[in-house]
Amino acid sequence: MERFSVQENKLNHIPEDIKGLLPENTVKTLVPQVEVNREIHPAKPRYRNEFAKYIIFRSDACIHCGKCAELCPHQVHVLKSGYKLFATPKNYLCTGKACQKTDHFCIDQCPEQALRLVENPMIKALGDNRWPSDMLLATWKMAETGAPPAEEYEFDYQTGNSGGGFDRMRFKFPEKPPVELSDDEIDTSIVLNRRDDGRPKIKIDVPWYGGGMSFGSVSNVTQLSKARAAVAWNTFSCTGEGGYMERMRPYDEHMITQVATGLFGVREETIQRVPIVEFKYAQGAKPGLGGHLLGEKNTPAVAKIREAVVGISLFSPFPFHSVYSIEDHMKHLDWIKHINRRALLSTKVSTPTDVDMVAVGSYSAGTHIIHLDGGYGGTGAAPDIAKKNIAMPIEYAIAKVHKFLVDEGARDKVVLIASGGIRTAHDIAKAIALGADGVVVGTGELIALGCVRCSRCSAGRGCPRGIATTDPGLVTQMELDWGTQRIINLYNAWRIDLVEILKRFGMRSVRELVGRSDLLMHLDFNNDVQSMNEVKPAMDVKPVKKQAPAAAKPKSKKPKKAKSEQK
Ligand code: SF4
Ligand code: SF4
Repeated sequence: MERFSVQENKLNHIPEDIKGLLPENTVKTLVPQVEVNREIHPAKPRYRNEFAKYIIFRSDACIHCGKCAELCPHQVHVLKSGYKLFATPKNYLCTGKACQKTDHFCIDQCPEQALRLVENPMIKALGDNRWPSDMLLATWKMAETGAPPAEEYEFDYQTGNSGGGFDRMRFKFPEKPPVELSDDEIDTSIVLNRRDDGRPKIKIDVPWYGGGMSFGSVSNVTQLSKARAAVAWNTFSCTGEGGYMERMRPYDEHMITQVATGLFGVREETIQRVPIVEFKYAQGAKPGLGGHLLGEKNTPAVAKIREAVVGISLFSPFPFHSVYSIEDHMKHLDWIKHINRRALLSTKVSTPTDVDMVAVGSYSAGTHIIHLDGGYGGTGAAPDIAKKNIAMPIEYAIAKVHKFLVDEGARDKVVLIASGGIRTAHDIAKAIALGADGVVVGTGELIALGCVRCSRCSAGRGCPRGIATTDPGLVTQMELDWGTQRIINLYNAWRIDLVEILKRFGMRSVRELVGRSDLLMHLDFNNDVQSMNEVKPAMDVKPVKKQAPAAAKPKSKKPKKAKSEQK
């Protein structure tokens, strides 16, 4: 069966009334768009020996009777046809100690006691406090199967160990949902234009889109996988600030292009291609530092697209030297609005202490989306000292901006998007409960592609997984179909988890969750998030008319509920 169907829609993806507004150049540069199926297919790990929490050792006592292979429901033991000896066990499929309680525990059932189970000592070195090993293993499992990991894996994946941020927040779930809802009754879509300015009311099927990662910082396969998954889920991906690859053109209608301080590869024509243009003022992981691509990552292909010289380091300075006031910002937004008459504008800022003033200023200047980028995100290329010490924690910034926009009467005219360390569906839901309409995800997508959080992203040949590299030898480690499917699967698993949360609150739409900080508790603030920020639940919640189309729920075991959360 063909995995992806390709359709040429003969440029009719742009409404006729909007087409009339477009400059001639825009229409000339339009290319047929490609559709990507949202179907869920298993996408197994691409390395032979995937990281595993447990390891099974088989001794010479094994008589190859095949009983362990017969017993194990997870296909850990493999006897390839034509072979006499068992292959190395597929340890990453083993549920380990949880299996002891079952009657198919191969270690006990082996007639020769030839098997031994140990915890993998390498797991202790895998991940970090923000992305602990269980979260990595669970995300890989979601990207493989398209569903939350089965309960018997006992992954504690919904919070990390950072000791702050979303890791210290919990939902206060009611004893039982106020109304019983089925999955099909839950709408997870959001609209990205709340202004009545004649520009399209773009709706995405899930309350998230992919973050900007430039060609150069990541490979073309990584960028394209993200873009194709965005098409499948009717959401967006972002080019980052490294120019617009020609190979991205068939996905234009699901792309955001970034205009950042370096203006690498930014041309009128690239701005005219897309439905959303993002002004990037700062990155939450390194505010005040700008962007930096080391010379060794500036390969001929990267230099060409960025209109730069091969091999030299490329900097995007921190400020736009043409923007020192809201009026200057407005001038920039007007410039883009004029060049692309259908585009929505997003303004990406980090989270200084006066971020609420920045947000309301940007709203006044005419932006459609305020994108707050907090400090918990960033790839390994962002310096740790910056990631951990500069920006205001995103959970404070979201609540602060949401409240200020409500007080100013502007909240229902602008879309608030949060990013920076959104790792799971629970993080997504928490950000929304604090006041965001939706989120931007970045690192999670890289994890789905097999990232191991080694923090070598900045080096030209540093990425062992061929994700954050442009080195021709490393890039070929990943295939586009595989990368696309992994991100499609991860999105589906996140949506299942998000729907579960909404169901437990009896909410029919993710929009009902916006600003409901009363549903959260903070383990540091008298168990009350509201006392942390004095955030009031606000927002007029409009009735939901239509369901967001969702992918078929794959057959999977029951998702695990967080041990630490209230029932
Ligand atoms: S059950 Fe024991 S003896 Fe039989 S194949 Fe498995 S490990 Fe070998
Ligand atoms: S595996 Fe690659 S993308 Fe992930 S942290 Fe390491 S270098 Fe960066």
